[in-house]
Amino acid sequence: MQTKYEAKSYSNYIAGEWVESTGGSIESRNPATGELVSRAARSKPEDVSHAIEAARKAFDSGVWASKRPAERAKVLLEMSEMVRKEIDGLSFLLTLETGKPLADSKGELLNAANVLEYYASASRHITGRIPRYSGTDVSLVVHEPVGVCGLIVPWNSPISLLSWKLGPALAAGCTVVIKPAGYTSGITMEFVNQISSIEEIPPGVINAVTGPGDSIGSELVKNTNVDKVSFTGSTETGRKIMEMASTNLKKVNLECGGKSADIVFDDANMEGALPSAVWSIFRSAGQSCNAGSRLLVQETIYDSFMKDFRETASKIRIGNGLDPVTEMGPVVSESQLNRVMGHIESGKEDGARLTVGGKRLVEGDYARGFFIQPTVFEGVERGMRIFQEEIFGPVLCVLPFVNEDDAISIANDTKFGLAGDVWSRSLTRIMKVSQGIRTGTLWVNRHLNPGPEVPFGGYKQSGLGRETGMEGLMEFLQTKHISLQLTDSFERVRR
Ligand code: NAD
Repeated sequence: MQTKYEAKSYSNYIAGEWVESTGGSIESRNPATGELVSRAARSKPEDVSHAIEAARKAFDSGVWASKRPAERAKVLLEMSEMVRKEIDGLSFLLTLETGKPLADSKGELLNAANVLEYYASASRHITGRIPRYSGTDVSLVVHEPVGVCGLIVPWNSPISLLSWKLGPALAAGCTVVIKPAGYTSGITMEFVNQISSIEEIPPGVINAVTGPGDSIGSELVKNTNVDKVSFTGSTETGRKIMEMASTNLKKVNLECGGKSADIVFDDANMEGALPSAVWSIFRSAGQSCNAGSRLLVQETIYDSFMKDFRETASKIRIGNGLDPVTEMGPVVSESQLNRVMGHIESGKEDGARLTVGGKRLVEGDYARGFFIQPTVFEGVERGMRIFQEEIFGPVLCVLPFVNEDDAISIANDTKFGLAGDVWSRSLTRIMKVSQGIRTGTLWVNRHLNPGPEVPFGGYKQSGLGRETGMEGLMEFLQTKHISLQLTDSFERVRR
């Protein structure tokens, strides 16, 4: 397995130049080995203001928004091609910084390439309408870019989640300042480095700054020269963003946490339902917003299903993401490890039954990283912390249910509403549960979205607005009504 890598240092990217910060640097380390992966700028708020000014100047000059849709589409297609061409190097770096298996990193980059391609074509489908057309009285409803956008991205899927924002922002004609999470600053700035070579992107259209969320992220949210913030991260930070964005009533969209239910009925195809239930929680070591972290199994099949589930979960191969046999890597950092282990302790203290895993791995090479066993709690009660809070680690809560109404009631017993899975062959059951569950997405006999054409986002405290699909593009556009009277004499409006 290839492991050799020389740590690179990145500065901020502002107005088409690489600009040093006087704030020093932050480091990202491989969560599987503790080795240094990259250094990036520990920006100061003034660096962020500088990036915002560059984005403002580029937006106000019309250098990007006034380009023909076909020209913006060409740039997005070039970006997508670049991701495909550089996929080996980028996925290697993504695995080094996040710990996820290399195949998953490649999958993430392919998703980003696909999303950028989708928004290349979507940029040519921004249309308006003419709701009034009567004699000399004509109304045009048109869509215009929102303006300067702050794109704040988490570490768990840093490049695909960035593409969900960057693709529609550029397609709409906006300019951007990107702010990645500290752990994944290297991969994000390398991605920016690659796309910075695309000549048709005018300086100031794409800017990127790195550093701590509470100082520079908040500057991006408070600064009144920013028209919109698109944020993905925890519900706790999302709440702060909403408050801070009130400075100039900037538009926000928030993609926040989840506690999704995976519901398995007794008539489900178990050959699909079982591996999907295992994969939906333990993929990325449970660090997915849409993880099926609450498994609900119909009581009539509970014993046999859970026997197979425990067996499959215990056999998951844990290791360094660069090793091709690895199925599950480490969690991203020591603080994430401590958080997840704290949840495991709380589950035990509250009386849930630990039936798989529950421990940090500390033997041999594991000692250098942040590896946690796939962990399963049964006998979970709805009031328990592990049932209610997003753990964002490889920890599953399992509950039996009696019928459709019971499954809906358990699934909805949460402040979150991001996604969910239902496994059944009965259309009546599927429709009843799909309509009863309050989430932005419901997957039936599958897990994850089939492509970028469909929207994703949360109900309740899982967020505000949508990403991907045409809905994701509309988030970066605003609506203007132009009312025309095609005569030059004053006429009183009759309502
Ligand atoms: P986080 O909220 O700690 O950080 C997310 C981003 O916000 C980072 O770039 C961080 O630096 C920045 N940030 C932190 N404090 C800030 C502040 N005060 N002002 C402005 N920016 C600030 O989240 P995380 O730990 O990086 O990511 C994990 C969370 O993201 C989980 O809750 C997960 O469910 C959520 N998530 C949601 C989706 C979705 O689509 N709904 C997708 C992926 C992850």
